[in-house]
Amino acid sequence: MTQHFVEIRHAQKSYGTLEVLKDISLDVERGQIVAIIGPSGSGKSTLLRAINDLDPLTGGEVWLDGVQVNKTLPHRQYEKHINEMRQQIGMVFQHFNLFPHLTVRENVTMAPKLLKKISDKEANALAEEQLDHVGMLERIDYYPAQLSGGQKQRVAIARALAMKPKLMLFDEATSALDPELVEEVNLVMKQLAQEHMTMIIVTHEMDFAASVCDRVIFMDKGVVVEEGPPEQVFKTPTQERTRNFLRKHL
Ligand code: ADP
Ligand code: MG
Repeated sequence: MTQHFVEIRHAQKSYGTLEVLKDISLDVERGQIVAIIGPSGSGKSTLLRAINDLDPLTGGEVWLDGVQVNKTLPHRQYEKHINEMRQQIGMVFQHFNLFPHLTVRENVTMAPKLLKKISDKEANALAEEQLDHVGMLERIDYYPAQLSGGQKQRVAIARALAMKPKLMLFDEATSALDPELVEEVNLVMKQLAQEHMTMIIVTHEMDFAASVCDRVIFMDKGVVVEEGPPEQVFKTPTQERTRNFLRKHL
C-alpha cells in the first residue's frame, strides 16, 4: 500500500560503475507542483525518466497512485502494464519531439486514437479542446516546421494532455527556446498549476520555480541535497552546496 500519489523509494541508478542516482526517496502529493533543480549532470533527467521506467532504475521503486510502475513482470505482462502506466504520465522534453511529417492535429490525435481506441471524431474534438487550452487551435492544420519553438512546445503539452494524464513531467521544457518564447510556455504550465495538475518540473529557471511550485528539490551528484518550500530553499538554504548553486543561478 502506498500513501502518497507519487512515491520514489530508494531510487538507485548506475551506468556501469557510474552511480547517477544514490538512494533517492521522495513523495509528491496529488495536485502538488514540484521543481527539481541542480547542476548539469546531477541526475535530474535520469530521475524523471525513471518515473515512467524509460530509464529503468537499478534499485528502488516508483509508485503512482497506489500502483508500482517499475514492477518486475514477465515480458508481455510488463509491456501491457507499462503501457497502461505511461498513458497516465505525460512527458514534455527539452527538444520538442513532435512528429515532423504529421500535422499538429495528427500529432495530438495519434496516441489517443491508437491507445484509447477512440473514434476520429472524438479524437478531433479532444485535440481541438487541448489545442485551445494551450492557445494553438488556429494552428491545428500546420506542420511542426511551420511553428516557432514556443508553439511546438505548447503543442507537445497539448499532445501529452490529450491522454488525460494523472501526472505531468517536464524536463527543461523551455531551455532550448529563444528567451522571448519562454514566457508563452511558462504561462501554459502556470495555467496547469492553477488547474491542480500534478507536475514534476525539472527547470533551470529559478523565478519560475519560485512562483509556480509548492516544493523545490535541489539535487547534486545523484542525491537530494535539500528540499522545501521555494521561499525556504531559495532564501534560507541550509546546505552549503545549495548556497553555492544558488549563488550562480539566482
Ligand atoms: P541532469 O539531467 O541533471 O543534467 P542526467 O540525469 O542527464 O543529469 O545525467 C546524470 C549522469 O548520468 C551524468 O553524469 C550523465 O553523463 C550520466 N548519464 C546519463 N545518461 C547516461 C547513459 N545513457 N549512459 C551513461 N551515462 C549516462
Ligand atoms: Mg537533464
